[in-house]
Amino acid sequence: MNSLEQILAANRQFVEHLPSSYESEENDKMPNRHLAIFTCMDTRLVEFLEPALGLGRGEAKMIKNAGNTITGPFEAIMRSLILSVFELGVNEIIVIGHHDCGMANTTSQGLTAKMLARGISPDAIKMVEHSMEKWLDTFHHPEDNVKEVVEKIRTNPLIPKDVPVHGLMFHPRTGKIEVIVDGYSAANIK
Ligand code: ZN
Repeated sequence: MNSLEQILAANRQFVEHLPSSYESEENDKMPNRHLAIFTCMDTRLVEFLEPALGLGRGEAKMIKNAGNTITGPFEAIMRSLILSVFELGVNEIIVIGHHDCGMANTTSQGLTAKMLARGISPDAIKMVEHSMEKWLDTFHHPEDNVKEVVEKIRTNPLIPKDVPVHGLMFHPRTGKIEVIVDGYSAANIK
């Protein structure tokens, strides 16, 4: 069975025996805790981060990418956050980095070498070379990245000043959270 067949087989079972807890009418697209969480796509966070934060289905917008990075004032993550605030009732944003993040060991040089080895055209790589360096070679410490990303969101002119932006670090083995940036004090909210 390939991956897609495996997923489809699991889905048939799932749909047939759908637990009643998933059928609740109360769950819709508006996050009922008015939260947007921006975190890393690391596999260890799947089904681990949400329970560690006490968050259930329907409670928060979950936005993810590699290393919870933001590369510009109106790039994909910022768009999702802006939409969350203005269209989906989000009034608080939490950036969550994690220890042992793979992004800290990824470089544009290493990625370029792997792309070339897989037959990607050098011209295509050349076109994104500069963005790739800006994206990968500036990420050294997950904690510093959280601080920088919080700052980028907080100072983005398209994000209202009264939206607190917190920065947390998560441990992918113990599940422990540490507060890096308390968004209430930065936004002057008690
Ligand atoms: Zn990560």
